[in-house]
Amino acid sequence: METETSNQNKKKAILMCTCSFACPSMKDINFAELTERIRLELPHDYILLHPRLCEENGENLMRDLLKDGVIYITPACKEEKQKKLLRDGFEKAGIEMNHNWKPVSISFKNTDTAFNDIKKTLEEV
Ligand code: SF4
Repeated sequence: METETSNQNKKKAILMCTCSFACPSMKDINFAELTERIRLELPHDYILLHPRLCEENGENLMRDLLKDGVIYITPACKEEKQKKLLRDGFEKAGIEMNHNWKPVSISFKNTDTAFNDIKKTLEEV
């Protein structure tokens, strides 16, 4: 099992799924503001937004993008849902979810609460 110490040597990438900017559970999130606040205020290596990570286009991106040595923080739908929906993308990339993935639910959050939860997750990994 991987330790917190080994995670400290990994890059931290934020892969945010916006659910097509249309999910009622994310209606109180201003994604433009949230992304810019994350970029400017939180320590991480890079951030990327995708509208539908769990569909073919998103999985194609994940297959090309994901690699070892990076921990992927995924602000998106509820954690349990992400675990099922993002599994194929990780599998296509040949990257183990257990060691390289940390979900954050931004369902039913607003911009501030989503920002704070992402911040907290970045501090934990
Ligand atoms: S992974 Fe979750 S947040 Fe992203 S499009 Fe699929 S259901 Fe929506």
